[in-house]
Amino acid sequence: MQHRIVVLGAGYTGAIAAGRLARRLRREDVAITLVNAEPDFVERVRMHQLAAGQDLKPRPFSEMFAGTGVELRLAKVTGVHVDRKTVAVIDANGAEELAYDTLVYALGSGWNAQGVPGTAEHAYEIASRPGALRLRERLARLDAGQTVVVVGGGLTGLEAATEIAEACPDLDVALAARGGLGDWLSLKGREHLRKVFGKLGITVHEHAAVVGVEADRVATADGKAIPAAVTVWTTGFAVHPIAEATALEVTGTGQIVVDGTMRSVSYPDVYAVGDAAMVIGPGDKPLRMSCASGGPTAWQAADAIAARLTGGKLPNTPIRYFNQCISLGRKEGLIQYVTADDRAVRAVLTGRLAAVYKELVCKGAAWGVANPTLGLPTRRRRVTWERAAAGSAVKAPA
Ligand SMILES: Cc1cc2nc3c(=O)[nH]c(=O)nc-3n(C[C@H](O)[C@H](O)[C@H](O)COP(=O)(O)OP(=O)(O)OC[C@H]3O[C@@H](n4cnc5c(N)ncnc54)[C@H](O)[C@@H]3O)c2cc1C
Repeated sequence: MQHRIVVLGAGYTGAIAAGRLARRLRREDVAITLVNAEPDFVERVRMHQLAAGQDLKPRPFSEMFAGTGVELRLAKVTGVHVDRKTVAVIDANGAEELAYDTLVYALGSGWNAQGVPGTAEHAYEIASRPGALRLRERLARLDAGQTVVVVGGGLTGLEAATEIAEACPDLDVALAARGGLGDWLSLKGREHLRKVFGKLGITVHEHAAVVGVEADRVATADGKAIPAAVTVWTTGFAVHPIAEATALEVTGTGQIVVDGTMRSVSYPDVYAVGDAAMVIGPGDKPLRMSCASGGPTAWQAADAIAARLTGGKLPNTPIRYFNQCISLGRKEGLIQYVTADDRAVRAVLTGRLAAVYKELVCKGAAWGVANPTLGLPTRRRRVTWERAAAGSAVKAPA
């Protein structure tokens, strides 16, 4: 008898959760299947680098999970049936249903066009690898002096604008932000941002809410048109519609509502982590979609599943923010220190040191995926079958 754990999505959080479960539970007792559409790990935090022409290190899952006991299933998830406890997948051989006893949902997110007219037809996105590669190919075909407008003044927009401006100095790069440039940052942070944007020659359109995208321009709410040979859309992420189509309780934006152990509040066999989950963090604020908070949600879910199956103590992984790490090209960066609930404090780290720091954070995140217990010793516990059965039968109160 084996308890079947199916993990959907092998991004930062799904891969971490699968690996950690494999290290927590006895191999004879569990069958852990990790389902992902692509054969290698995509470092989403580097998609702006990929778009700007850099090549990323290939990270095949077959190598990362070799010998871990996690079975990799390369297939696209098309649906989840929480009452039947099955997942519908499709691959080159056709459609199939996978049965689970415990499900970890970690399908992440994609770009968010926010219903702005013309975005889907004309804008480029960097939330996915295909999107980043499409933009990379387009940038390579632009003539000197042509304009690239990055829409969105959040972390991804800042990183994309600076990366493209540094990699393509002959292009005219602009950023359109709904508010002021980096207006959530500390004074020092904002000053540094302006300095770097100035050095890279990036035009900043502040308080410019983009309401329409055309092939050669974007339109702002105050009636202006900003010329744009290429528009890069970075105004936040949207979760995949799969969860919304299930009987799971989700938020208005489609994120799965979970308790403090990342367990669905409506179906106790289902856990959700990363961008796909609505997790309340410090200050009773929802966590933002990020690796910074997603990693701890994966640790928490994996440890809670292991504890419930083995009769161990439920974990209480601290989930809080420490800093916002922003790359500003390859030579510059900004580390904005924050409170536990993500509000900027005065301290910042800037310049080359910040760029190195950010690079180490990205490398560390990828290392964490391949080494889910962060070097801690493996502790494999025996599944207690009564607990496994109880855990999957009991539905949490509404
Ligand atoms: C350019 C960019 C820069 C960023 N920089 C930072 C940063 O500096 N710091 C930070 O904290 N966060 C950053 N983020 C956000 C961060 O990347 C995400 O929050 C993080 O990737 C979420 O992890 P996840 O595991 O929830 O989802 P993902 O990493 O998106 O993983 C989801 C996985 O599910 C797979 N999948 C999706 N749909 C299906 C399907 N139907 N069938 C099968 N498989 C499927 C995908 O292929 C992927 O492997 C950045 C994002 C972008 C785009």
